[in-house]
Amino acid sequence: MKKLSIKKKIIILYTFLIALLIGIDFYILDTTASKILIDQAERGVITATDEIAALIKMEDDGPYLESGDDEGAFHFYHDGVIFLIYSGQNISYGSTPTNFDSTLSISLGEIQIQEHNGMTWVVYDVSMSGGYVLRGIYDIQVMADSLNRIILFAGISSLVVILLTAIGGFLIIERAFRPIKKIYKTAAAIEQKEDYSKRIETNFAKDEIYELAEMVNQMLDKVEKSISREKQFSSNVSHELRTPLTVMQAQAEYLLEKAENITVKEEIKSIIAQVSFMENIVTQLLEITRSRQIADSEMDILNLSEIVEYTAESYSGMVEEKKIKINVEKPKFSTNTVGNQTLLIRVFSNLITNAIKYNKVDGTINISFSEELDNILVNIKDTGIGIPKAKIDMIFNPFYRADESRTPNDYSLGLGLALAKEVVKIHGGDITVTSEESVGTTFVVSLLKVK
Ligand code: ADP
Repeated sequence: MKKLSIKKKIIILYTFLIALLIGIDFYILDTTASKILIDQAERGVITATDEIAALIKMEDDGPYLESGDDEGAFHFYHDGVIFLIYSGQNISYGSTPTNFDSTLSISLGEIQIQEHNGMTWVVYDVSMSGGYVLRGIYDIQVMADSLNRIILFAGISSLVVILLTAIGGFLIIERAFRPIKKIYKTAAAIEQKEDYSKRIETNFAKDEIYELAEMVNQMLDKVEKSISREKQFSSNVSHELRTPLTVMQAQAEYLLEKAENITVKEEIKSIIAQVSFMENIVTQLLEITRSRQIADSEMDILNLSEIVEYTAESYSGMVEEKKIKINVEKPKFSTNTVGNQTLLIRVFSNLITNAIKYNKVDGTINISFSEELDNILVNIKDTGIGIPKAKIDMIFNPFYRADESRTPNDYSLGLGLALAKEVVKIHGGDITVTSEESVGTTFVVSLLKVK
């Protein structure tokens, strides 16, 4: 029950409640109807037997049973009641109906119920003069059968009512939950694409869910603004740092030329290295900023497999150095997409250099293509050191390095994946990663295909 959706829980509980109420109603109907049936049968037998007993004239040799159609004539069957006349324990007049046990003892003025061979009889005995007894026997089965038919019909219609209630309930709840589905879809889209510009459509009734959606939208406004402020800040800082860093670099190089003392020279070289490291950071940060401003006019139809192949080839030197085998599969379908060539080359360069950097000596890199709905997937799979599970969600964050001690050289700034993610997002795609420590990592870049 815990894992069921609220919708299913409500439908199950409320159908169960309706079924329970109908069940209780049904039970009351069944027991009261049977009681009424027996009461009525008892009253009918008593009245009919008393009436007939009053009609029978007694003569010296026994009861005079006038027959025929006249009023007052005696009939062994009247108003559904069968009559027998006993003398002591023996039947003197009339014949026992089939399946009635005639040995049932006489009990004057009292109702007896006999259940025999699947039949139910209501029996009433009245004493007459001369030691005779008039017994009225009523077959309750006919009425019970009609009652059972009515109850069966009521049972079937109750099942139909329960079914209709469940269907009706499902439709009502489905409708009531539609806005919640919208909120969920928007939240899922934001979570997947990290696109904080999306908002929940609030074109539904102004109820509590509407207020919730409005509140979520207001929150998204704030989140979007703060993200954009943060991006603007890093862009401004990079711009501001660029010129002083270039000046520092030039001045340090000038000082290096002029310096005569070896120790001073070494110190200046170290300054130059640090400055160029900082320049590197600034350049990459500016690249991220610039990639966000890419215009539609800078996008072309590109063949992804060609771009990937070209990029992989440009790293052949690095691959050979580490004795790594790199295989780029030829796709059997069109891998055309719309994008900016320079930026997409940057993306695949980052992913391929990472796959080399974090691979083992003698490792392999397999690059394959697949299709999923409207997307082309580029799978870059390496046999490297892998990424710890706890850190995998952070690797796309700027300046994040999964393990600084393992980072192979100073040029690992932790900005490559942040740029790659940003660029792919701008192209309407996404990058996902799966990894197993000491086994390898697979990055999947999905981009929209064009026909
Ligand atoms: P870096 O410049 O450090 O490579 P990236 O943004 O490209 O920065 O990557 C961030 C971090 O993600 C890296 O420092 C590394 O720890 C981890 N990483 C990226 N790609 C791989 C990979 N193919 N295998 C293992 N770890 C990787």
